[in-house]
Amino acid sequence: MKITLDEVAKKISDAEKILVTAHINPDGDAIGSTLAMLQILRTMNKKVFAYIDDKLPKNFVTLPFAEEIQRPQENEKISADLLIILDTAPDRIGKVLEITDAPILNIDHHITNKNEENFLYVEATAAATCEIIFHLTKILGANITEDIAICLYTGLATDTGFFNYSNTKPATFRAAAELVECGVKPNLIAENVEKRTAREVQVTSAALQTAKLFYDGKVVGMFIDENLAKKTDTTEGLIDLIRVIDSVDVAFLLTCKGEKICRVSMRSKTVDVSKIAQKLGGGGHVRAAGCTLEKSFDDAKNILIRAIGEFMVETKKISPAEFEEDKETLLADFEN
Ligand code: 5GP
Ligand code: MN
Repeated sequence: MKITLDEVAKKISDAEKILVTAHINPDGDAIGSTLAMLQILRTMNKKVFAYIDDKLPKNFVTLPFAEEIQRPQENEKISADLLIILDTAPDRIGKVLEITDAPILNIDHHITNKNEENFLYVEATAAATCEIIFHLTKILGANITEDIAICLYTGLATDTGFFNYSNTKPATFRAAAELVECGVKPNLIAENVEKRTAREVQVTSAALQTAKLFYDGKVVGMFIDENLAKKTDTTEGLIDLIRVIDSVDVAFLLTCKGEKICRVSMRSKTVDVSKIAQKLGGGGHVRAAGCTLEKSFDDAKNILIRAIGEFMVETKKISPAEFEEDKETLLADFEN
């Protein structure tokens, strides 16, 4: 059932013990919104626990209170009044769904979230779930401490590519400005998010060597196979290196996450990649979406390239002839 933000605030006010969670493969917005919510609810004297069923990327473990995020244990059970699911529908929270029978309050900004069997507040015009939480603090009358502001700003910054993507709206800048007034230092957030080890920078160069163009240069892909994946803790930002290519509409990153588990990230300039991701069992936004393919790396690569090509033919972004040609070209060999 879709509810308003005022109703979200009421559900929160009525609950005493609350679990907060977000999606697996957590990003800055998932972790930032979880940690902001944890702190906001504590200022309201709620008993709060934060769970995410995944390892936190190292660039986010230094966020305030990140050490409080737990992974659910085998057969763990917790009674609570409310389970708040942030930045995803319940299908991407792993085992957190099994640890409690509490009613679900789902707060998200993904247009693909259709979770109407629970209390759902979805605002697709919000750049980040953190932007929604920012507005929620006003309704709740909660004070935004510097630590809360740091978490919210991190989510805003990471989901907007530091205020560069098309989801960046005047409201995003207004929220960011107020968070800076609350004590956030934008340069320190950027430094923290962008920090890489020397080895990871080296991997960036190796990753770029794998990049290939498809469909007359309108699609570009980067391939982090098992070998390359072992050398890096993060693939954050890699896709941004190739999406800038002038001929490209759709950029994707295929990463090996384990035997027959491949993660797909997609970005676009005009194509609705959320539709392609949904066809492959994932979701996301018009210009940024993703999915997981339980296939070998080679199979995943073929399935993904075909799915992108078919959708681009359907939406007249490439011609059937370009699709049929099915040629891949290394960046160095591409001429346009
Ligand atoms: P990223 O490429 O940064 O991992 O994800 C881009 C966007 O798509 C994010 O907003 C993310 O939440 C969403 N997304 C990525 N993977 C999945 C997925 O497997 N399922 C769904 N529903 N959304 C995804
Ligand atoms: Mn998000």
